[in-house]
Amino acid sequence: MDQEIRTVKLVLVGDGSTGKTTFVKRHSTGEFEKKYITTINAEVHPLSFFTNFGAIRFDVWDTVGQEMVGGFCDGYYISAHCGIIMFDVTSRISYKNVPNWHRDLVRACGNIPIVLCGNKVDIRERKVMPKDIDFHRKKSLEYYDISAKSNYNIEMPFLWLARKLFNNPNLVFTAMPALAPAEAMVDSELMAKYALEFNIALAIPLPDEDDDL
Ligand code: GDP
Ligand code: MG
Repeated sequence: MDQEIRTVKLVLVGDGSTGKTTFVKRHSTGEFEKKYITTINAEVHPLSFFTNFGAIRFDVWDTVGQEMVGGFCDGYYISAHCGIIMFDVTSRISYKNVPNWHRDLVRACGNIPIVLCGNKVDIRERKVMPKDIDFHRKKSLEYYDISAKSNYNIEMPFLWLARKLFNNPNLVFTAMPALAPAEAMVDSELMAKYALEFNIALAIPLPDEDDDL
């Protein structure tokens, strides 16, 4: 591992309109320094975080609208160190498609750290409830409720991935990156209620059948 700054490739996957581009654009530095890869039709946003074990830079890959045309090309996934699968908590179909994105990601990248994110929790008409979300438990991924528009939990996927990549559970961020101003608000009481529902769901054993073949 590079002592100075460690650079890793992070691929963002998930259905169109789940908020991937919104999520990656919250970090002002990445938005400023992004690069466009013409051959793959992807944008790469470098996002740096400072930790008590040194700096880490995530080169976050985001495609420019290929979600609808049967998944992303190999060049998008190649040599990724980690990934984020995003769905929209107001769209059941986007959650139903998570196993497909996971399959593609694992096929291309093997056993890399992956975080599942349910975005748009600021919207009150939530359709995918905490009790419905169990894919991450079957596949040993981490899960976070997030709201890209309100910056809610926006750094948590990066923190979890950094801990995995540095193989150090004691890693913390020592400075927060500059974020774009929130464009929505989350209701903290509602977020606490969701957190409680997640804890209750955790106590329920997973069904036996492997339904994602
Ligand atoms: P992508 O296709 O996955 O890159 O999704 P986009 O980032 O283009 O977002 C799709 C739509 O969802 C846009 O209208 C965004 O403004 C909206 N959106 C993204 N994140 C959030 C969020 O956290 N909350 C709400 N309410 N809307 C969001
Ligand atoms: Mg997009």
